[in-house]
Amino acid sequence: MRKDKVKVVIWGFGAMGSGIAKMILKKEGFEIVGVCDQRPSYVEKSIYKILNWENKTNDDVLIKSNIEDVITMSSCDIVLLATDSFTEKAFPKIKWLLEHRVNVICTAEEMAFSQANSPKLAEEIDRIARRNHVTVLGTGINPGMMMDLLVVALSGVMEEVDEINVSRINSLSPFGPTVMEEQGVGLEVDEFNFKMANKELAGHVGFNESVHMIGSALGIKIDKFEQQASPIITKVDRQAPHGFAKAGNVAGVNMTAQGYANGKKLINMNHPQQIEPQLGGVDTGDYINIKGIPPVNMAINPEVNGGIGTIAMCVNMIPHVINARSGLKTMIDLPVPHAIIGDVRQMIEGKRSW
Ligand code: NAD
Repeated sequence: MRKDKVKVVIWGFGAMGSGIAKMILKKEGFEIVGVCDQRPSYVEKSIYKILNWENKTNDDVLIKSNIEDVITMSSCDIVLLATDSFTEKAFPKIKWLLEHRVNVICTAEEMAFSQANSPKLAEEIDRIARRNHVTVLGTGINPGMMMDLLVVALSGVMEEVDEINVSRINSLSPFGPTVMEEQGVGLEVDEFNFKMANKELAGHVGFNESVHMIGSALGIKIDKFEQQASPIITKVDRQAPHGFAKAGNVAGVNMTAQGYANGKKLINMNHPQQIEPQLGGVDTGDYINIKGIPPVNMAINPEVNGGIGTIAMCVNMIPHVINARSGLKTMIDLPVPHAIIGDVRQMIEGKRSW
């Protein structure tokens, strides 16, 4: 087993980044060697103080606002980048990290299959990663698992696939301010409609990535992709840790999408997401129904928690990314994600303990 601990840097210490830190601190064989976040109230503060966590090590980790103060060439094994949703915005950070010869796991939704929206950047990221002998993966709960990788895995028992229907009815409450803003949580309905029409709101980011990931895995060319968004209006006041919606205002977004292949609708996505869904009488859940031979129907009720799910996907993929060949990877390129219960070091470089 590898002797030295897996050295991790976290860039972006919001809801996801701080959750990633807590999960890593509970696991054996990891070491957080640096954190970068530009929130003024965090800068130069100890991560243990921010997390309200007992420091069982001899070293402290102070949050830096500048990544150059955190990373030097090859100074860690992997960086968890949890700052952005879009490939274009994450790109300069990813490039900088790859050129400093560190592996990257990125929570940006578009990075789950960057080939869908930014094929040129995807190619460039792949080139830079290969040149520097490191690996980069975009992952999270969705995209990354519930509406794509799980579909791909379930299709493994099928001879023919005729139609794929995926539904994730979930809570936005675990997510941070970035997600609240992108979804328009708390806005008046007119403002929501105006901003959505002007592309100032993103709604769920990831359908295009999920649809193309499924298509790529199944060997199907997606020749048309469409998506729609409408506001979910709350009848009661709803308070979440990072968002508030007054009665009559927007509590979330109902998003739908369709992927076509050979002129026929093949993939249907349905994703109503809102803060505190129980206050609107909504039961959360994850559902996959694939028509074909044999038909496959999956139901998970309630939903897999989006916050913990994303944090866990990022941490659990660390050994797979470190072990991978260099380049840009997606969830369909790497081994099956699994929990890390034992010491992570036994999962590195294929030296398992069985
Ligand atoms: P958040 O707003 O709580 O945290 C983002 C943090 O990044 C903030 O603390 C901010 O100060 C910091 N930051 C931003 N730019 C920075 C920079 N240049 N340098 C240093 N710090 C910087 O958001 P979150 O809920 O933690 O989510 C992070 C990102 O991950 C979001 O864009 C979100 O949409 C995405 N996400 C994806 C999935 C998925 O399933 N794929 C799930 C959850 C979140």
